[in-house]
Amino acid sequence: MPRLRRWRADLHVHTALSPCADDDMSPWRVVAAAQVAGLDLIAVTDHNSCRQVRAVVEVGKMADLAVLPGMEVQTREDVHLVCLFDTVEQAESWGEEVYEHLPARRNPEQTFGKQLLFDTCDHLMGKEERLLLTACDLGVEQVVARVTALGGVVVPAHVDRQAYGLVYTLGFFPPGLDLLAAEISGREAEDAVRARFPQLGDIRLYAASDAHRLEEIGLHPSLFYLREPTVAELGLAFRGVGGRRVGICPG
Ligand SMILES: [Zn+2]
Ligand SMILES: [Zn+2]
Repeated sequence: MPRLRRWRADLHVHTALSPCADDDMSPWRVVAAAQVAGLDLIAVTDHNSCRQVRAVVEVGKMADLAVLPGMEVQTREDVHLVCLFDTVEQAESWGEEVYEHLPARRNPEQTFGKQLLFDTCDHLMGKEERLLLTACDLGVEQVVARVTALGGVVVPAHVDRQAYGLVYTLGFFPPGLDLLAAEISGREAEDAVRARFPQLGDIRLYAASDAHRLEEIGLHPSLFYLREPTVAELGLAFRGVGGRRVGICPG
């Protein structure tokens, strides 16, 4: 088994597939920006889609950057949840499931922006025509159940933010959900976030950038102590098992 090591991580990064992200966020540029920022590990988390995950994971392998396949899904309640997986196949399976629960509408590109798809050479392959910047009709509980069944883990995104944050949107942190961690934006200290949101209880918090521009990647990294970057190891770090842990880099 690999030894425990420190991973400087940003587990919430968009690509040019997200309409609200910059069009130059192609796989190689995203990976390069992550390495310039000193990261060892990123997660690709486009809005409601996993169609760019495979290329970024493959580029990450070529460039020696660990990349977790993921998605930022928007639930029926307008809550953003980061979904992380071990394999591209799991993520793509989840992506197909989410597509079945999205409205069958085209992306109004002039309003929301382009949804670009690149290959592993950064060649533009086409566009996602389906509207991604909207809610699917799956609820928070359904997303957690389905992602867990597929072998993934769910982390509520930017819970300190008003827009699409779980606590603001629902008004509480669902006690029945088996959530081990929540993501914060890193704009204020963890203690300040906990003071503002006592609903968070003692859940593990970590920061991520939610980068929509190349220069935002790694802006608010966290340090994960893991044997390898897998969903199982993340779970152990959230629980603090066997020396695994996560800490927010001081701003
Ligand atoms: Zn979000
Ligand atoms: Zn995001």
